[in-house]
Amino acid sequence: MRVIVIGGGAAGFFAALSAKQHHPDAEVALLEKSNKLLAKVRVSGGGRCNVTHDQRNIRELSGHYPRGERFLKKAFEHFSVKDTIAWFGQRGVQMKTEPDGRMFPVSDDSGTIIRCLMHEAEERCVRIALRSDVNAIERKPDGTFLLRMENGGALSADRVIVTTGGHPKAEGYVWLKQLGHTIVAPAPSLFTFNMPGEAIRSLMGVVADPVRARIVGSKLESTGPLLITHWGMSGPAVLRLSAWGARVVQGMSYRFTLQLHWLGGMGEEDARTAMADEDHQRKQAQNANPFTLPRRLWEFLLAKADIPLEKTWGDVGKHDRNRLVDLLTNDRYAVAGKTTFKEEFVTAGGVSLDEVDPHTLQSQKVPGLYFAGEVLDIDGITGGFNFQAAWTTGFLAGRLG
Ligand SMILES: Cc1cc2nc3c(=O)[nH]c(=O)nc-3n(C[C@H](O)[C@H](O)[C@H](O)COP(=O)(O)OP(=O)(O)OC[C@H]3O[C@@H](n4cnc5c(N)ncnc54)[C@H](O)[C@@H]3O)c2cc1C
Repeated sequence: MRVIVIGGGAAGFFAALSAKQHHPDAEVALLEKSNKLLAKVRVSGGGRCNVTHDQRNIRELSGHYPRGERFLKKAFEHFSVKDTIAWFGQRGVQMKTEPDGRMFPVSDDSGTIIRCLMHEAEERCVRIALRSDVNAIERKPDGTFLLRMENGGALSADRVIVTTGGHPKAEGYVWLKQLGHTIVAPAPSLFTFNMPGEAIRSLMGVVADPVRARIVGSKLESTGPLLITHWGMSGPAVLRLSAWGARVVQGMSYRFTLQLHWLGGMGEEDARTAMADEDHQRKQAQNANPFTLPRRLWEFLLAKADIPLEKTWGDVGKHDRNRLVDLLTNDRYAVAGKTTFKEEFVTAGGVSLDEVDPHTLQSQKVPGLYFAGEVLDIDGITGGFNFQAAWTTGFLAGRLG
């Protein structure tokens, strides 16, 4: 049996290795169009590779995927977080868990993951070809496949696993559409918000936690750490919002109002009570800070509420306090654009899950054709969920079930 895996990323390697594990006599070739393998693994997690997330409950785990939740719930029954940890552990790569649940190799180096996958591919005799760009797949009457290459060449295969990742434009999926598959229009996910006109950008580097962020005009909200950047806002609260709202904000052309509750959802009355605390009354407003917000942010919000920083807190009148409470619980910023610079980003959309078996990853349109990884209409929020989807779907596709 000749198996061809198209795409040398996380899903492609796992698919090829799984094919060799389950079908040792098969001839497995992995084709990569660029001259680099596992390029995203290398840069992932800031060079540390956030391999997976410490969530062993399948229902909870699946809940971290804005697209693909129901599909993955079934796939995770076969291969999940514990299997990923065991897979790497059996090959000498131990994982560690950060307080927020993200899991990294103990080396804190994505090179460890790359070396492990490359070593395994070599041991199992997976044939790897770089600069091999597939631009069409044809299914022959005898059920085998002919792969047409960009350079004019052609290759034949009995089984094909497509792991070509996400593509920002629909044109990137035309060759898969030609096979009869429905393509869900791509949309970027996991991006940061640009706020070109907002003075708060001067606080770049400040992190507030927890902040409740909402997209005005939608039901989308997310609570967690928020990072102010040179361009606007980022951090888990914003990235999660960008993932769950990927389609909604695309529909708004990435221009919308972001409503922030700097106190993570605390009630207005509780906020007033905290402000009335005796301890603060004789301090200057800038030092009162009853909510222990980052100092620069507190001062910024005082200034926005027209409260002089040096004014004695006890002398700040009811009217001013109300204005501040309003800002703390209902602050608003104009978003105009998005950025994915250096951050984890993924593509929502891709091959429709309605036409793929979640247990085998086999196409329900074309027998012998399989899909895995981000080429599918699957994407997770930040925290190791995207790689987990790639490991799971790659492993299952490689079983060639
Ligand atoms: C900067 C960054 C950091 C990230 N960090 C994390 C993280 O820490 N944790 C996490 O879970 N997720 C992270 N992600 C997301 C994660 O990297 C992806 O979800 C994952 O790599 C998808 O794997 P894949 O194999 O499906 O696709 P890819 O990694 O995109 O691999 C697809 C491969 O197919 C090749 N290819 C495409 N078309 C063809 C063709 N026609 N013929 C041959 N080859 C082709 C491409 O060149 C590419 O090498 C990050 C993403 C980015 C951009």
